[in-house]
Amino acid sequence: MISKGGSEALLTALVNHARTFSPDYNILLPLLHLLAKVGHRDRRIGMKAEDAGAVLLTLNLLRQNINHARRVAACLWVIQVFSSSVSAANLIGENHGLDVIYQLIPQYTTRNLHTIKAAINAFAALLYTKANVWSIVSKGYISGLLRLYEDWHNKDTQHVAISIRHALLCCLHNATQSTAGRQAFISQGGIRLLYQTTQTCLLSKSTECLVEPSVQLMRKCLPKTPLPLTSDKSAYTFPLPGRPHAVPDVDIGSDESSIESDAEEDEDNQEDDNRDYDDDLESDLNKLRLRPDPDRPKELLPQYSRLCPELSHDFQELVLSSEPEESSTSSSDDEAVMPDTFPPRSNSRDSMRSTPNSDSSTSLDGSYTETEISIKGHTPAAAQLEAHDFHSHSSVLSTSPGCRTMIREATEETPSVQKRDEQDDDEEGAEEGHHRTMIDRLLERHGSCIPHHEPKLYRAAAAKTKSIPGFSILAFPDFWGHLPPPGHEPMAPRKPNIQRQKVLEDVQRFLNTSDTINRLVFDLEDSSVQCQSDSLRFFSKFECGNLRKAIQVRRCEYDLILNADANCSQHTQWFYFEVSNMVADVPYRFNVINCEKSNSQFNYGMQPVLYSVREALEGKPRWVRTGTDICYYRNYFCPAQGRRKTTFYTLTFTITFKHNEDVCYLAYHYPYTYSALKAHLKVLQKSVDPATVFFRQQILCGTLAGNPCPLVTITACPASKGWKDLHQLRNRPCIVLTGRVHPGESNASWVMKGTLEFLCSSDLVAQSLREAFVFKIIPMLNPDGVINGICHGRQSGNPGADTDQADRQVFCDYHGHSRKKNVFLYGCSVKETLWQSGSTVDTVGLKEDPGYRTIPKTLDRIAPAFSFNSCNYLVEKSRSATARVVVWREMGVLRSYTMESTYNGCDQGIYKGLQTGTRELQEMGVKFCHSLLSVTKDMKLLYSRRLINHIDLDHNILDHKSHNCFEDDEPPCVEEIEYSTDRPTVKCNDLDSDVNSNMANPDEEEELDERHSDAAKCQQDCINESIIKGNLFPPQIRQASIEALSEKRNTCNGVRISNGQITS
Ligand SMILES: [Zn+2]
Repeated sequence: MISKGGSEALLTALVNHARTFSPDYNILLPLLHLLAKVGHRDRRIGMKAEDAGAVLLTLNLLRQNINHARRVAACLWVIQVFSSSVSAANLIGENHGLDVIYQLIPQYTTRNLHTIKAAINAFAALLYTKANVWSIVSKGYISGLLRLYEDWHNKDTQHVAISIRHALLCCLHNATQSTAGRQAFISQGGIRLLYQTTQTCLLSKSTECLVEPSVQLMRKCLPKTPLPLTSDKSAYTFPLPGRPHAVPDVDIGSDESSIESDAEEDEDNQEDDNRDYDDDLESDLNKLRLRPDPDRPKELLPQYSRLCPELSHDFQELVLSSEPEESSTSSSDDEAVMPDTFPPRSNSRDSMRSTPNSDSSTSLDGSYTETEISIKGHTPAAAQLEAHDFHSHSSVLSTSPGCRTMIREATEETPSVQKRDEQDDDEEGAEEGHHRTMIDRLLERHGSCIPHHEPKLYRAAAAKTKSIPGFSILAFPDFWGHLPPPGHEPMAPRKPNIQRQKVLEDVQRFLNTSDTINRLVFDLEDSSVQCQSDSLRFFSKFECGNLRKAIQVRRCEYDLILNADANCSQHTQWFYFEVSNMVADVPYRFNVINCEKSNSQFNYGMQPVLYSVREALEGKPRWVRTGTDICYYRNYFCPAQGRRKTTFYTLTFTITFKHNEDVCYLAYHYPYTYSALKAHLKVLQKSVDPATVFFRQQILCGTLAGNPCPLVTITACPASKGWKDLHQLRNRPCIVLTGRVHPGESNASWVMKGTLEFLCSSDLVAQSLREAFVFKIIPMLNPDGVINGICHGRQSGNPGADTDQADRQVFCDYHGHSRKKNVFLYGCSVKETLWQSGSTVDTVGLKEDPGYRTIPKTLDRIAPAFSFNSCNYLVEKSRSATARVVVWREMGVLRSYTMESTYNGCDQGIYKGLQTGTRELQEMGVKFCHSLLSVTKDMKLLYSRRLINHIDLDHNILDHKSHNCFEDDEPPCVEEIEYSTDRPTVKCNDLDSDVNSNMANPDEEEELDERHSDAAKCQQDCINESIIKGNLFPPQIRQASIEALSEKRNTCNGVRISNGQITS
């Protein structure tokens, strides 16, 4: 009807009829009704009405019939519809339409609710234009609307006028779309009024529907508050000294590696964008073609040979199998090959004992004094460096005197020193020495319980780690180690209306200054901040720690601000900090207020992780998922300097600690530090039998801060020094695995840990894989980022191209995914990309090895956390610089993948509904190795009976997995989650049903029969119809309003009207 000119015809009819001397309302009224219904669906109705001259005419009709409720309602609906056009709305505003309509909104009454609602809705519709909002602000109508809402709220005790109250909220909502409106709203006490009315609305089920619009209105109007920071920049700034000499091969491949990290960043950010994938898919066949020829001159290749030590190794130990040097743990290959950044190794235990005791780390009032370490890329005297480092790292325990007290208690060999104050008497050095022996005793008692973790090795490794701030303190969990808890940890059920509750609490904070403390209790940049005895104590100046500020908001509530990436002010998501001085069994609310991702698995069952030192000392050294009342939502903070339009999100969770005076650590995910990697590699190196396992750790490159980026080579030693065996070794294909391009993705490290441990193990599959492949593993591509607690950082070295070697078969870059569940792979396929992009290229003649699917298919069968359905093999333009695509295209590696592991858990398979722990992540690393069996060339050899029995690829019990998991985004929460920066949508209109009921019940007074209008039933509000019908018109105008719509069938411009329904 609209496309056939129906709107214009109706407008013409309206203009013609209304202009007559005494308009026939028997015609005019249904015409207005029809125009409202049709116009409601015609986006250009406002403009058409202007053209037809119907806008002011309708306003005049309204003025003329001001005492005639049904005509007024009809005119108001039409005005509401016309107001979809800015110029029509402004025209009405300029002609005092706002004043006329505002006068039609009375104080509480039970009569004429229909007409009143129509007036409010028309008024609201007019407020879509800025000029009209300005106009009502200047006339004080916002205050008037608030008083009206208050009046209706207070007097509508029977809840018969919910729809009016709802419409008033919508009106206020539109009025506060502009700054002027919001300011008027705040200054007129709007937030307090709505907060109070909301409290009452929460009490009754029938008023429940008013809570959400009220909360949204309050949230929108809460004044934007700058983050309490002096600068949005990171507290850590990185000295950028051009190109440090320590980095080898600096020019080669730097192009790839530098764009790589940015592009992968996109990969994470775009997941929820609903972007049109087709647009982003690469459809240029030339760009999709693999380029197996190396893109740099072959002459450059020899310099990489140092990274293939297995090729030049003489395997002397095969002859002299008991050579003492090799079997001793005090000598290892890594340092032999490493350039000057690593000093010659001495026994770490000896050096610890010889370290002077004076220190450094903690002063007893709980504040910290650090020794400054300047970043030294190439210190001349290695021995000096080591001593210096140990000096600055001489405190083993992170922290607080509380922690030490606990350790004293645990050792039970010193008279218990419960009170911190008493330690003041200790002489620093003696205290430190004493402390150390206690640690030794503890380690003797408990320390060996964690496989592949040695605290002393960790301490030694951490001493060499160079950080921007010069960390001198270790976080206890990293030092002590972590064991996965027994059993699984289910996802946390989302509490109903949790978001609403949290926003209300935020509003309360704005209103109620009485219980608000707002006291700074921790500042990374200002160690003079004093901890109060009645507040939690925070600390984060340790590897991977990144809490910048903690503010005690209320007695048991803290706002936390995370440090931005070094030299950058964005990408805060990862967090890791220490908290102490807690009281047991008290719920503490934590709000991380400067999160930046627009959605989070924290809304879908994910919990942060907590590590209790006390529990660890009691034999339960573990990170556990914890926290209740978890919610991730948009907040009202803005950047401190307003430099960019940023929306911040709050992650809020509540922790109830089990013990008084515990020292606990809280993190976004299971931390895995750079020092942990180095210690782990040492442990692995010691664990393998050098006669059979070739394990070499080398430095791929140095980072800007002077931390080596390790490259690990793992393969089997040849069976003999015979030509045949050496030839087989030299022709083994390469498997290249990388991780932690993005430093915040610690889950990738746990998967990598599983892979490394498995490959070094005596497992039969591992043996076979070592015999079949050479593994080149770069477990941490961005050490500096990891160390400094960065979520997304720049790569500091240039590891990208160094592993260039002709014969590699599989490449996989381990990542973490913050918005999806399960573990899955991204691969590369020309055909799938072309199909998906709708490209016209004929793919029939294109040959593509379908082998890129082998590994994901195998993983789907053998890895419980893996989801084949979440994988895809599309080459997106926006990801053309990711390691996966570069390796695939530039090096011709068919099986080139990004492996994404969830931070949360699984929604399919045997782990469905469970959060992943480190056990499951490590298992994934093992299963990935298993899946590599499926790509070995010599299938017969590798599928020998012993292996089939071992992992049984074909008849795995996990094969029953459901395949209908959610591929993309999360299913909607029961509570609508507001992520976007767009204005929240408040449903204001059910115009159709209103019009219908006006048409269907032409005379409410006379037709009080049992016949209920279907249309009226459709109304969403909870209006009790019988009450309304009986009282709709006030007595004084009732008589005039009785105007039966005698003609129920009426033809109007060829359109048949039947009882208000358009039938043709
Ligand atoms: Zn990533």
